[in-house]
Amino acid sequence: MKASTGRWEDRSLASCLHGFSHLGTLRDEGPLIVERGEGIYVYDTHNKRYIEGNSGLWNIVAGFNNKTLIEAGYEQLCRFPAYHTFFGRNNEPAILLAEQLLSIAPVPMSKVFFTNSGSEANDSVVKMLWMIHRGLGQPERRKLISRKNGYHGTTVMAASLTGKDYNRAFGLPLDCVHFADCPHYWRYAKPGESESNYVQRLVTNLAQLIEAEGPDTIAGFFAEPVMGAGGVVPPPEGYFSAIQAILRKYDIPFVADEVICGFGRTGKLWGCLTYDIEPDIVVVSKCLTAGYYPMGAILLSEEMHAKLMQACQEFEEFPHGFTGGGNPVGCAIANKALELIIEGGLFDNVVAVAPRFQQRLRGLSDHPMVGEARGVGLMGALEIVEDKRTKAPYAAPLEVSEQIAKTALQHGLIIRPIGDAVILAPPFIITREQIDELFDIVDAVLDAVQDRVEQDRSAAE
Ligand SMILES: *Cc1c(COP(=O)(O)O)cnc(C)c1O
Repeated sequence: MKASTGRWEDRSLASCLHGFSHLGTLRDEGPLIVERGEGIYVYDTHNKRYIEGNSGLWNIVAGFNNKTLIEAGYEQLCRFPAYHTFFGRNNEPAILLAEQLLSIAPVPMSKVFFTNSGSEANDSVVKMLWMIHRGLGQPERRKLISRKNGYHGTTVMAASLTGKDYNRAFGLPLDCVHFADCPHYWRYAKPGESESNYVQRLVTNLAQLIEAEGPDTIAGFFAEPVMGAGGVVPPPEGYFSAIQAILRKYDIPFVADEVICGFGRTGKLWGCLTYDIEPDIVVVSKCLTAGYYPMGAILLSEEMHAKLMQACQEFEEFPHGFTGGGNPVGCAIANKALELIIEGGLFDNVVAVAPRFQQRLRGLSDHPMVGEARGVGLMGALEIVEDKRTKAPYAAPLEVSEQIAKTALQHGLIIRPIGDAVILAPPFIITREQIDELFDIVDAVLDAVQDRVEQDRSAAE
């Protein structure tokens, strides 16, 4: 092989297609080539250190050099590195992981199915639902309800369930997907509308949507307990109990996408526990392996599983699966990751430091640029506005949230812009002192960006 030379950044641009990366930023600033990590910090190829304020993509919660996880992976690689779970095959780590997941599930669950990612898990759930309804004599139940701004992944079906405008790029969503309201009280409530009236309006809209489409045509409802990639949107008070009452009335299964919330992010082990959700199906991924292996999983209630098995009779099998699903190395890592989170102190640490995180986060709501500081547990967002009173965002071309993220990067902090917000979701191992370090940077960055925006404005005048 011919050895390449030159800067990693240039070689990356020359050789890789960068997904979800702003083309202008990529061209002007180049990619960030991350080389190693230590605790909550990562280092780029120039040895510059950054706090990973987003745990990578919400998932690398045990830090970037956790020996226990590395050894768990290595030991399993030595023992038995790979096998599939088709044709009645299985392996010990997969069984242990399924047992562990069932023992900690937010509501009693019966069976676990493994995938390689969150997107695949959501896709698989749709196939399960379609198969169940078809098998039980309701083949017309194929429509899916998701929510505007919800994020469920990027495969064709998961992207369809994702209520983001960019999926227009692909001519998605598929026709079978319908969107309920995004439950963001601060942004979408009418002037003077109380939180409970707002929830009531959303519930009425959902009922109308179901009635208009025909209750007997709906296969399932998908929701994240807290919208993550939608910009960290915790639900308004009473939202999920009201939504669930409607879904139960129409016999529509509730799929809780716990890919971000699962395993502690919201300050309880599950988002479902934080918001009293009783799902029929739970989808997990991200924190499952603390990011050390690609993996997703689906938890099915006894009722869902029994129906699926009934539907399988006709085919004499469940005709679905992924080559890498239930990979023994991934499962061994996941078993250790869950042990670290639940018994090894990670979850306890989230509970211990989350109040400080939320206090510092909410402290920023006094900043002139911050319209709303919202969050729960160890996740938060700062909604950037030009006018706090009218909640008007800055003009889109100013890309203020992008600027904040870029400036943070210069200050040694990785955070991510989503729409007009910047979001924070540090690793579960973060200490109180590191939370202060993180927010001190955010403070300075907000001031710096505000100054720059003001200067640009007076220069333009
Ligand atoms: C990230 C995410 C997914 C998709 O997971 P991938 O592993 O990227 O396919 C699905 N749902 C939610 C809520 C997510 O945050």
